Amino acid sequence: MKRVTAILWLTLAPAFATAHGVHEHGAATLAVTLEGDRLELALGAPGASIVGFERAPRDDAERAALARAQALLAAPAQWIALPAAAGCALESSAADFDTAGEHADFDVRAAWRCTAPARLTTLDLTLFERFARLERVTANLVLPDRQDSRTLARGAARLVLAP
Ligand SMILES: [Zn+2]
Repeated sequence: MKRVTAILWLTLAPAFATAHGVHEHGAATLAVTLEGDRLELALGAPGASIVGFERAPRDDAERAALARAQALLAAPAQWIALPAAAGCALESSAADFDTAGEHADFDVRAAWRCTAPARLTTLDLTLFERFARLERVTANLVLPDRQDSRTLARGAARLVLAP
């Protein structure tokens, strides 16, 4: 009985541990690191959460969807808003799609330097508006004064870093 329940749950929401953390369709993970004046984000998202497939694209429509998703993810201003008062300038960003295994993940990195990091009080995620398949994002924060974990969802996509 217990085994049947587990199998049903996996069918509804497949979750697999990968090198990047948990791979769960409909979900994503976001690591937020603030150290000195440097803000780093690492977003890991299953292909199922973003484009709806987890392999190399098979036709023009899938190739276009993948190119659109990668271009959007590689431009962090398209999916996250930082407070202007923090004076953050983007230093680097990249978005990869790794289709080597049975499941495929987007691996997105972005880094900024901020002139007033203390004013980095909130981060507003606009990912949910961009990708309809995405339901929630687990954010892990590593801040100068604390570590924390939060779950963001559609309509509740603001990450509070400082009160
Ligand atoms: Zn998958």
